[in-house]
Amino acid sequence: MALPQRSNPGAAPGGGQSYREIAERMKKVQEEQRLVVERMRRIPYKVAVLSAKGGVGKSFVTASLAMALATMGKVVGVFDADFHGPSMPLMLGLSQVKGLLARDDGSIVPAVNVYGVRLVSVGLMLPSEEAPVIWRGALKTTAIRQLLAYTDWEGAEYLLIDLPPGTGDEQLTIAQTIPGLTGFLLVTMPSEVSKIVVKKAAAFAQKLNVPLLGIIENMSYFRCPDGSIQYIFGKGAAEEIAKEFNVPLLGQIPIDPRIREATDAGVPFFLEYPDSEAAKVFLEIARKFVEIVESKGGKSNNARGSEQP
Ligand code: ADP
Repeated sequence: MALPQRSNPGAAPGGGQSYREIAERMKKVQEEQRLVVERMRRIPYKVAVLSAKGGVGKSFVTASLAMALATMGKVVGVFDADFHGPSMPLMLGLSQVKGLLARDDGSIVPAVNVYGVRLVSVGLMLPSEEAPVIWRGALKTTAIRQLLAYTDWEGAEYLLIDLPPGTGDEQLTIAQTIPGLTGFLLVTMPSEVSKIVVKKAAAFAQKLNVPLLGIIENMSYFRCPDGSIQYIFGKGAAEEIAKEFNVPLLGQIPIDPRIREATDAGVPFFLEYPDSEAAKVFLEIARKFVEIVESKGGKSNNARGSEQP
């Protein structure tokens, strides 16, 4: 008996995508991953900034660190992987930029701020600041891979990646897509609830075998006009985490309302208020950060990930 003929011989059973379409998509993904490896190989230091909860100052730390590194003469790129709450355009003084340029060869040109920090953010591509990004996990994974594959970071020595809070798709994709990720930098605040969740983030990094470069505690205290200190959110959490996970505590940044004003204006607060306690603490954190990151040896740390010889 003759078997019934399929009208489309390449079609998968169930009427989904044809095998040919699936194979083509897989080929495209492999090609993009190859480009990611090639581009990332040119950047010696790649650090993802992670926080367990929102509102602890992770984006403020990423933007300030990028500008502090730039003022030290480093070439810095920032990849804003916080698709649902991209704040890097505002904090780096690039909120007026609308859209990213692409060259004829298909490469994406980052926006550059007055300090020379290069930025790629979905926030630069939205029709308005209020427009939401409604993407599922798979789409975010694709966006991360494609933006990393096609962006020309133009000689960046450092790539800082601003991650959304938590330990979900974006964090996993960054850890698995970027070969030789130098490590995670953890930002937290002293509250009990933050402490519990940040421990999950530290355990996540350890499980993925990504080095934890350091922990920064933000909003650690408030210095009153009479010089006394108020521990508004509690005390001692960062020391506890640093000890438990054997991670260096890079510093404890006080609460200072001028930080909010400066970040909203897209200017580095440590240059605006260089005599403030927060600026001094922050610059010491930036110095330690460079020391730790560069001691990892840049490109020689490329053993992990899917990098090809
Ligand atoms: P996250 O990225 O963790 O969600 P943000 O970096 O967006 O948090 O910070 C939340 C808000 O808190 C911002 O307006 C920021 O300017 C402000 N902020 C961050 N750190 C401090 C601080 N130490 N003192 C005062 N305001 C701060």
